[in-house]
Amino acid sequence: MEFAYDTDNIFAKILRGEIPNQTVFESDHALAFNDIEPQAKVHVLVIPKGPYVSLDHFARDASAEEQAGFFAAVSEVCRITGVEAGFRAIANTRTHGVQDVPHFHLHIIGGEQLGRMLQTP
Ligand code: 5GP
Repeated sequence: MEFAYDTDNIFAKILRGEIPNQTVFESDHALAFNDIEPQAKVHVLVIPKGPYVSLDHFARDASAEEQAGFFAAVSEVCRITGVEAGFRAIANTRTHGVQDVPHFHLHIIGGEQLGRMLQTP
C-alpha cells in the first residue's frame, strides 16, 4: 500500500508551531496535546513527529526507536492524566474508520465512565 503524507495537514502545522496547542507531553519522537473538542474529561491526542498518515503506516515504516518513543509518550500521557481507572485508545483510520486528520494520532480518552465502544452511523 502507498501512504502519501500531506504536509499541510493540521497536525503537521501544530508540529511546526504554526498552530498553537495545549501540550501535555513532548519528547524527541512524539507530541501529546489536548483535543480541541474533548469527548470526555481526558481527551489527549498522541502523535509521532515523523510523517506517518495512519496507524498501519506507522506500524509498517516507523523505526523501532520512533515506535518505542511513541509508546513511551503514551505511557507518560496515561501517568500525567491519571487514568488509572481506565481509558480508551482509538486510532481512527481512513474512510471506514472516519479519520479526519491524515497524520497518525492515538486518542487517549478517559477521566470518567465511557459508553460502549462503537456506534453505527
Ligand atoms: P480523527 O477523526 O482524525 O481521529 O480526529 C481528529 C481529532 O483532532 C478530532 O478529535 C478533533 O477534535 C481534533 N482536532 C482537529 N483540529 C484540531 C486542532 O487544531 N487542535 C487540536 N488540539 N485538536 C484538533
